[in-house]
Amino acid sequence: SVEPAHRDVPARHFVGGKVPLGLKRKGLRVLVTGGAGFVGSHLVDRLLERGDSVIVVDNLFTGRKDNVVHHFGNPNFEMIRHDVVEPILLEVDQIYHLACPASPVHYKYNPIKTIISFFFFLMTNVVGTLNMLGLAKRINARFLITSTSEVYGDPLQHPQVETYWGNVNPIGVRSCYDEGKRTAETLTMDYHRGANLEVRIARIFNTYGPRMCIDDGRVVSNFVAQALRKEPLTVYGDGKQTRSFQYVSDLVEGLMRLMEGEHVGPFNLGNPGEFTMLELAKVVQDTIDPNAKIEFRENTQDDPHKRKPDITRAKELLGWEPKIPLREGLPLMVTDFRKRIFGDQDVAAA
Ligand code: NAD
Ligand code: UDP
Ligand code: UDP
Repeated sequence: SVEPAHRDVPARHFVGGKVPLGLKRKGLRVLVTGGAGFVGSHLVDRLLERGDSVIVVDNLFTGRKDNVVHHFGNPNFEMIRHDVVEPILLEVDQIYHLACPASPVHYKYNPIKTIISFFFFLMTNVVGTLNMLGLAKRINARFLITSTSEVYGDPLQHPQVETYWGNVNPIGVRSCYDEGKRTAETLTMDYHRGANLEVRIARIFNTYGPRMCIDDGRVVSNFVAQALRKEPLTVYGDGKQTRSFQYVSDLVEGLMRLMEGEHVGPFNLGNPGEFTMLELAKVVQDTIDPNAKIEFRENTQDDPHKRKPDITRAKELLGWEPKIPLREGLPLMVTDFRKRIFGDQDVAAA
C-alpha cells in the first residue's frame, strides 16, 4: 500500500484541536468509505484539495471508478476495493463512513433482489459500521457517520428537528434502509459512550448534483434523465408530497465542518427549500425542456408525505447553511448528465 504523506504528524495535533477549516496545515490521513460514490467522491475532491491524504474504501456496488479516476496517480490518493462487511486494518486520523447501498431501486423496485438487498443493507449498515467503529477505536480516529432523514420515517413533526424520534414502520418495504441507518446511529453512540470514541452524526436530506447515479430511481436523477431523453417525467402518487433538495457541495461543506467541529450531533444537513414533486417537475421543465410531459404513476408504499430539515442546530453550532438553491444547482447537474447520457460530442453539437 502507499505510504501516506505526513505520517509523522500525530493525530492529536488536529483531532480534537481547533484547526479552522481552510487554514494551511499539514495534511491529515483520512479514510472515506463509499468514497467512489456520489457524495463520497465530492468529499474526496475537497479533502485532497485541502492537502489531506485520502484512502477510499469502496466495493463499487453503487459507486463508480469514474468518480475518482481523476485522482489516480496522485500520491496522496489511494483506492482499495473492499467490502466494509469484512474487517480491515488501516492507520488514519479521521474516518468518514459513507458506505451504504443508497439508491432506492436496490430496495424498492426489484422484487427478485429484495431479499438480497435487504441483506446488503443490514449487513453494510450493521456489520460494516461495526467494523469501521472497531477500526476507529483501535487507532483512536475520529468517526463520522452519514445517517439520513429517513430515520424520521413518515414524520409527524414538520419541519424535522433533531430531537424528533421519528415515525418509522419497522415492517415496511423501506424499513431495511431506515432501520439500518437507525441501528448505525445506535452503534455509533454506543462506541462514543462505551469506548470514548470521538464521533459525529450527520442526518443527510435529499441531495443532488453531478455524478449522481443516472438510473438509481431517485426523483431528481429520474426527472433530469427523463427530460434529457425526451421521455415523460414520472410523478408518483398525486405529486403533492414534498422533499427539500440540497446541492452536493453544500453537503460536503457541512460534513467537513461537522467533522472538524466540537459537537457530536446528530445534525440535520439539508436545504430547507421545500418542493412538491409537481413543483420539482416544473423546475426541471424550466431548466431543460418546457415541453416535457408529466405522467402519473402509482406511488410506493410508506412514502413520506413531507420532508424538510430544521437546520437551526447546524447554523448555530457549525456556522453552516446551504448556499445553492435548486434553480442554481440543477443546471450544474444537467450539464454533467448531458455529457454522461449523450457523450461529449453530442453536447458540443447541441
Ligand atoms: P452512493 O451509492 O453514490 O455512494 C455509496 C457508496 O458506498 C458507493 O460508492 C458504494 O459502492 C459504496 N458501498 C456500498 N456498500 C458498500 C460496502 N459494503 N463496502 C464498501 N463500499 C460500499 O450514495 P450517496 O448518495 O453518495 O450516499 C453516500 C452516503 O450518504 C450514504 O451513507 C447514504 O446513505 C447517505 N445519504 C445520502 C443521501 C442522498 O440524497 N444522496 C441522503 C441521505 C443519506
Ligand atoms: N475491526 C476492524 N479493523 C480494526 C479493528 C477492528 O475491521 O482495525 C473490526 C473487528 O473485526 C470487529 C469490529 O471491528 O469485528 C469491532 O471491533 P471491536 O474491537 O470494537 O470489537 P471486538 O472485536 O472486541 O468484538
Ligand atoms: N418520485 C417521483 N418520481 C420518480 C421517483 C420518485 O415522483 O420518478 C417521488 C417519490 O415517490 C418520493 C419523492 O419523489 O415521494 C422522493 O423520492 P426519492 O426516491 O428520490 O427519495 P426519498 O423517497 O428517499 O426521499
